[in-house]
Amino acid sequence: MDDDIFLVRFWGVRGSIAVSGPEFARYGGNTICIEMRCGEHTLLFDAGSGLRPAGKALRASGVTDFDLFFTHCHYDHIIGLPAFKPMYERGIKVTLWSGHLAGRMTTRQMVDEFIRPPWFPVTLGVCRASLDCRDFASGDVLRPREGVVVRTGSLTHPGGCIGYRVEWGGRVVAVITDTEHEPGELDQAVLQLIEDADLVIYDCTYTEEEMERYRGNGHSTWQQGVKLCEAAGARGLALFHHDPSRTDDELDGMERLAKDRFAGAFAARDGQTLKFPVSVHKKR
Ligand SMILES: [Zn+2]
Ligand SMILES: [Zn+2]
Repeated sequence: MDDDIFLVRFWGVRGSIAVSGPEFARYGGNTICIEMRCGEHTLLFDAGSGLRPAGKALRASGVTDFDLFFTHCHYDHIIGLPAFKPMYERGIKVTLWSGHLAGRMTTRQMVDEFIRPPWFPVTLGVCRASLDCRDFASGDVLRPREGVVVRTGSLTHPGGCIGYRVEWGGRVVAVITDTEHEPGELDQAVLQLIEDADLVIYDCTYTEEEMERYRGNGHSTWQQGVKLCEAAGARGLALFHHDPSRTDDELDGMERLAKDRFAGAFAARDGQTLKFPVSVHKKR
């Protein structure tokens, strides 16, 4: 049954830093982590604090082979990696991918940098899983698993960031976080990645009203997400990378406004699952 489903599950939707408390209980406080299941294949995007519960649940469901793609390595996108238990388990395969530091640092070097003393008690040497680090450059087309195509592009973010377009079974899901837009312009690289997508997961840290105060931080707005999705013919828009101070009630309000403008818009929350049925013939 699951062979015919492209599943997307949000494990961490919060940007910048994890939060907790009653005012964040419904949308959740974990930082960035998205699971995509293309039939039997499990892909993960970013290793924020949401990666810890993701690892636990996926192991419980019998997954032994993980491909984890980094958009970039700011703390909110990596802090969960040392707590990803499957890495310490014999018999598990973990493939890590990154491209935002191409030519400057390899994926292996990046991970070695922050999983070691004095930042962490041990080094990657304690991992018992088979760990494979892959490097790519923005624009490369990746084929991590049979029939799964992952297109990549550069986003506008301090230090660089990669946007992903995942294609499987005739369905398309794009991860566009973190990125800043120019007022009045549509980013061509983003348009390419989200063209005709079933779902666009977009950096909606700020509102347009707030944006002026935070120019240069490398983030965007739900209003820009709507414009991009309309221009690209995308059908779903997940408001994502919520500001750590944004409460549940505020996110409800933001979701209402976004839905009024674009019917396929919603504010993503931890644990939320979306299922896109695929055509069996289109699985290549
Ligand atoms: Zn971020
Ligand atoms: Zn960032």
